[in-house]
Amino acid sequence: MNFTSPIVEEYVAHGRSADCPVINTHAHFGPYKAIYFPMDAPEQVLHTMDACGVRWLIAAAHGALVDTDRGNKEFAEVIARYPDRLKGYWAINPGYPERVVREVAAFEQFEGFVGFKFLSDYYQYPITGPNYAPALEYANEHGLPILLHTWGGSPYDGPDVVEETARRYPNARLLMGHAGYGEWERASQVARDYPNVFLELTAAYRVRGALEIMVRVAGSEKITFGDDHPWFDPRYGIGGVLFAHISDEDRRNILYRNAQRVFGLPV
Ligand SMILES: [Zn+2]
Repeated sequence: MNFTSPIVEEYVAHGRSADCPVINTHAHFGPYKAIYFPMDAPEQVLHTMDACGVRWLIAAAHGALVDTDRGNKEFAEVIARYPDRLKGYWAINPGYPERVVREVAAFEQFEGFVGFKFLSDYYQYPITGPNYAPALEYANEHGLPILLHTWGGSPYDGPDVVEETARRYPNARLLMGHAGYGEWERASQVARDYPNVFLELTAAYRVRGALEIMVRVAGSEKITFGDDHPWFDPRYGIGGVLFAHISDEDRRNILYRNAQRVFGLPV
């Protein structure tokens, strides 16, 4: 297959491509439990982005996945320092329904946030549950993206749950984080059948053949790049796109064009 394309050759020679930038649509920021992340300070993240040709990083603060009140606001300060490189997902915690309404209202008051982040499996709370409704209604009303953690077979955020959500909220743009890991075919069908559903590549890029299924079933216009930075080095994920059996047009769609469209970001 096409492993000697202009984009691949440029990446292999220089570690990045001048005319094929990357938009990372699934990243995190800040400390998480006792895990050591190398190169996770904002300046170091920017350094890695530059080295790998990553134009934009869209992230949710780790702190916000636990304490949304504190974490989202702390991350707003980091974004404000790099407004032309970083964007944020405003994390929603479904465990406190009375707070979700307040969190959604607060979203508008902070610059640089482009959508919401749901982590349903971690909270063991389904995307379709009533506690998420205020955020989904808001996203539906404003055509806002939501990065959903999704996983094959999950009753909280598996492909069937995403399909139900896509049907109920046709204007919310739903990014299936991890592309419904393991249920590649089924997740790709949902992305194919619903204009507002996209597959996001975190963890999926390392599974041989998964990306080819997504491109065949959903089309490369329905896939965005992500890698859970700083959990993984972007070279790993980008390599997964470069060395998949797909065309350079597919690689451009996945690495930046689709995200450019969904998030309205200049490159
Ligand atoms: Zn993640």
